[in-house]
Amino acid sequence: MTLPVFGHTNPDTDAITSAIVYASLLSKLGVAARAYRLGDLNNETAFVLQQAGVEVPELLESLPEGTEVALVDHNESGQSLAGLGSLKVTRVVDHHKLGDLTSKDPLYLRFEPVGCTGTILTKLYREHNQPIEVWEAKLMLSAILSDTLHFRSPTTTDTDREIGTYLAQIAGVSDIKAYALEMFAAKSDLGDTPADKLLKLDYKVFPFGGNTYGLGVMETTNPGYALGRKAEILAAMQQEKDAKGLTGVFFSVVDILEETNQTFVLDDAHAEIIKGVFGADTVEQVADLGNRISRKKQVVPAFEKYFG
Ligand code: MN
Ligand code: MN
Repeated sequence: MTLPVFGHTNPDTDAITSAIVYASLLSKLGVAARAYRLGDLNNETAFVLQQAGVEVPELLESLPEGTEVALVDHNESGQSLAGLGSLKVTRVVDHHKLGDLTSKDPLYLRFEPVGCTGTILTKLYREHNQPIEVWEAKLMLSAILSDTLHFRSPTTTDTDREIGTYLAQIAGVSDIKAYALEMFAAKSDLGDTPADKLLKLDYKVFPFGGNTYGLGVMETTNPGYALGRKAEILAAMQQEKDAKGLTGVFFSVVDILEETNQTFVLDDAHAEIIKGVFGADTVEQVADLGNRISRKKQVVPAFEKYFG
């Protein structure tokens, strides 16, 4: 049986590249594995795969009950393949907090509090004395630059920096900053992408205080683009909230270069939450969340603290 390997829904660059690279490593170690994706690629990820000369993984929509799977870059069922609970997770490589994962049998778990799954995968190559191929290095480097916003997100660790530099040498990327800017430019080039797709570019659902909230993020070098489409995006947020029966939906426009966060706020009830969580006022349905550029490290923990 070939082991399906996949990252989270609404995949980012780490979710896609980690699935590809982990499947490659497992195959080299004698475990037949194949990477899949749980959604469309964003423009940054499409650029990265093209730069590395790697094919886009096949879309996975469902698996038969009991199928063994490996997860990368996530572990919560709400961010995974529908019906994850009926599958058999045998491996997880991740850098997020533990969610609702349970198992009947022992499984392989590799979690580290680093900035990117790609960082952990590089360590696995080292531990297994497996040489890293140029394309693998390019994918893991790209994931690290994406997740850490070129080593500037507060999620960045010294390990991410060391491994990023190491991978750049293997990948033949002599100017890391220039490459990161190319990636970010690709990510920010959104053209006439429909508003519901913009909301879902990097969107995750979280349980806070017994309720369910959707948190979307647009990491961009051009926040004016999102602000110019505010009305449409707010409408898409309302629609998603109603369709999925969520308690709340927020959408943060994160300027990667200036390190700012402007969060779209649906109504007074949402504004009250934003005031309570961050102490931020909402003006014309936008709250300034300052330099909170990391959902994982600065936004989600604040919500969790607020909702207890
Ligand atoms: Mn991710
Ligand atoms: Mn990640």
